[in-house]
Amino acid sequence: MNKRYKIIDLSNKISPDMPSYPSLPPFRIENLRTTARNGTTVSIITSMHTHLGTHIDFPLHVIPGSKSLDDYTVEDLSGDGVVIDLTPKGEGEEITEKDLEKYSDHINDGDIVFIFTGWSKIRDNTSTYLFRWPHIGESAAHYLAKRKIKILGIDVLSVGGWGGKVAVKGPLPKIPSRKIHEMLFNAGMLVVEEVANLDKVLKGKKVAKGFFLIAPLLIKAVEASPCRVFFIPSDL
Ligand SMILES: [Zn+2]
Repeated sequence: MNKRYKIIDLSNKISPDMPSYPSLPPFRIENLRTTARNGTTVSIITSMHTHLGTHIDFPLHVIPGSKSLDDYTVEDLSGDGVVIDLTPKGEGEEITEKDLEKYSDHINDGDIVFIFTGWSKIRDNTSTYLFRWPHIGESAAHYLAKRKIKILGIDVLSVGGWGGKVAVKGPLPKIPSRKIHEMLFNAGMLVVEEVANLDKVLKGKKVAKGFFLIAPLLIKAVEASPCRVFFIPSDL
């Protein structure tokens, strides 16, 4: 065992029955060849949208002609930062500037910031998880932009709230998800959604500092990709 550092995996496992963004098709994988029949096993992913599970969004997601995945280096997708505890957050609740300001002394300008809403603890194919997650509001987006945050991560399906056609109980987000994405991208931020294991990082504390590494597949000219996310805590 390596005692110099510890690495925590902040990624969700991908499988056909996993919860995923409700308006997009489910993940599908099958065998193209099997060892018994063909001598080797080879799988083929027959359906995988780019916002599946733990994934990273790039500006091209909402801004036509802007930067895509392969415009970013490994350095762009890694760096120092902080995990902050915003639990308990309720169904469809907005995350505000006030929520983030509580942590202003712990956040350095230019940091990577990951938000633990607690939603990852109820991750399942329920309407609460799939439609009523807490989301970034306009004031929080302004605050993150002001602090020049490099990458924002969150343990819910999207940084913006659900605004799709399926009717859900409760108020819709005050501001469309697309607009929140646009505000963050225009501020030079990237976005990582549906991150896992932030509770293991925090271990009951309110803040944890460390180094993040986000590793999407290097797909040409895409607006997003599923990714592995690794966190190396500063305190051993
Ligand atoms: Zn996304």
